[in-house]
Amino acid sequence: MEVILQNLTKRYPNRNKKIHEDIIAVNDFTFEIPDGKLIGLLGPSGCGKSTTLNLISGLQKPTSGKIFFGKDDVTGLPPESRGIGLVFQNYALYPHLTVKQNILFPLENLKGKDKLSKAEMQKKAAKAAKLVQIQELMDRKPGELSGGQQQRVAIARALVKMPKVLLLDEPLSNLDARLRLQTREEIRRIQRETGITTIFVTHDQEEAMSISDMIVVMNAGVVMQTGNPQEVYDNPANLFVARFLGTPPVNVFHGTVKNQSLYIGEEAVMKLMPDSVSKPVQNSPEASGGVSVHKASRISDGTEVYVAVRPEGFIPDENGPLTCRLSGVEVMGRDISVVSANSASLAPKIRSIISTEHKVNPADPFVRFSLRPGKVFLFDKETQERIRFQALEL
Ligand code: ADP
Ligand code: MG
Repeated sequence: MEVILQNLTKRYPNRNKKIHEDIIAVNDFTFEIPDGKLIGLLGPSGCGKSTTLNLISGLQKPTSGKIFFGKDDVTGLPPESRGIGLVFQNYALYPHLTVKQNILFPLENLKGKDKLSKAEMQKKAAKAAKLVQIQELMDRKPGELSGGQQQRVAIARALVKMPKVLLLDEPLSNLDARLRLQTREEIRRIQRETGITTIFVTHDQEEAMSISDMIVVMNAGVVMQTGNPQEVYDNPANLFVARFLGTPPVNVFHGTVKNQSLYIGEEAVMKLMPDSVSKPVQNSPEASGGVSVHKASRISDGTEVYVAVRPEGFIPDENGPLTCRLSGVEVMGRDISVVSANSASLAPKIRSIISTEHKVNPADPFVRFSLRPGKVFLFDKETQERIRFQALEL
């Protein structure tokens, strides 16, 4: 089932009486979730992920905007009429019921023409239990299960009616590291097997990147970027997205574009193609006939920028242009982790990941790097939007 969010906005009145402005938990969210895909809704705590999910489920009503499931406008429908399955972080199982009774629960509440016979209910419950592989646990109470098993029961309960849309709100956050990994692979498998359109909410970028067909990165109620996880990682639209994705995170420096070169501090780290550096300019909608378009404008010589370099973007090179103080070298099997420092870096530590073909002597006071242009992003210092450039091949 395709899910379409149209200008979805949710405001809460501010509880702090001194502040009269509303809290805008979700701000003009427009997105089409394709049928049968797993979407990772990703962002820091408080950015509006749960609110978005609750609007889709119908647990909350939007202040404005619309939600469509396929062609049907479901904005006014209560949760039970939307055909959704919900899974929460804390499992929310009924403690006094057995696993089987928990899974049967949504079926027992069906009324009228949807009412099922006992035999049909048993069959559906057995099928859901098999899907999440908890057939042997059917007679236990939730208190007699591990966290991972409880979450499987919650997923089975959400799937038993074969929902059109499955909504998962931080389903792995209460599990330990190993179970988290295992359960996220399970969720991916179940989603593939059932083909149910699934929205998976998490604050953990690695989790979202690893299982999603598509990610939606949110910050402060606003959608920052959407796309295939690898594409978003390789092509962040702004500094927030660049920083939010990736471990270790991207390294950010103060830089300048001048004389057709990119400078980090006083060092020219990359030659740029003449006239290749341009930044997006947001035209006013009125000026372009109601459509807002991005038009590139060249940046002027001497413009200050943020330079973000992925950890894998550094190549140790004794003649390299970027000089950093070396503070640590750690061999991690396949890779070497090099920790260094540079006065133009925003953070005290620069973390780079180097392949073992390269040698870095831990006793050296300095390490010099050349940079891989594809792993270097420039951002406008004011808007923090991406500035595109082409490096000159030498
Ligand atoms: P997330 O799930 O990404 O952590 P939420 O959707 O829960 O974020 O919250 C988004 C914002 O809306 C936060 O600033 C939160 O404090 C606020 N918020 C959430 N629910 C309410 C509520 N019922 N009343 C007032 N503010 C709320
Ligand atoms: Mg939340």
